[in-house]
Amino acid sequence: MTAKMTQGQCQCGQNQISIIGKPLFRCFCHCTICQQYNQAAYGDVSVFRANAVQLSDNSQVNFRAYRSPKILQRGLCQTCNTPVIEKLNVPLMPKLIIVPSANIRQFEQLPAASCHIFYHRRVADIDDQLPKHSGYLPSEVAFTYHLFKGL
Ligand SMILES: [Zn+2]
Ligand SMILES: [Zn+2]
Repeated sequence: MTAKMTQGQCQCGQNQISIIGKPLFRCFCHCTICQQYNQAAYGDVSVFRANAVQLSDNSQVNFRAYRSPKILQRGLCQTCNTPVIEKLNVPLMPKLIIVPSANIRQFEQLPAASCHIFYHRRVADIDDQLPKHSGYLPSEVAFTYHLFKGL
């Protein structure tokens, strides 16, 4: 997944996602919003620069911020109501798009996840060797650290 195109989609395929290049990083987020949004024990997310990701039709996605400040807009497909992409706009930072890793067709070509964040919110313990960050601030710091490493 160097500079070539990758395709992704929501569960029903109504929303097609075109991606250039590989993610800046990938991680597992155990926060309660990711649990709710992904209908899963945690979110497996791949983070890209916003300009690397294009949707087939923005009007087919309902974007909503689940908490304030509204820097993270999470999009659900209007047809199947499953996650499409998330838009993260942090002031002074490059605009990012988060794609649920399961939406990416070449899933096996994704890099390994770097860490677990918001691990204090976990539904179940995870038995792997990855760093596990608990607490809001340590989780945000870990996310930012991996982001800057990937940029
Ligand atoms: Zn869909
Ligand atoms: Zn989360």
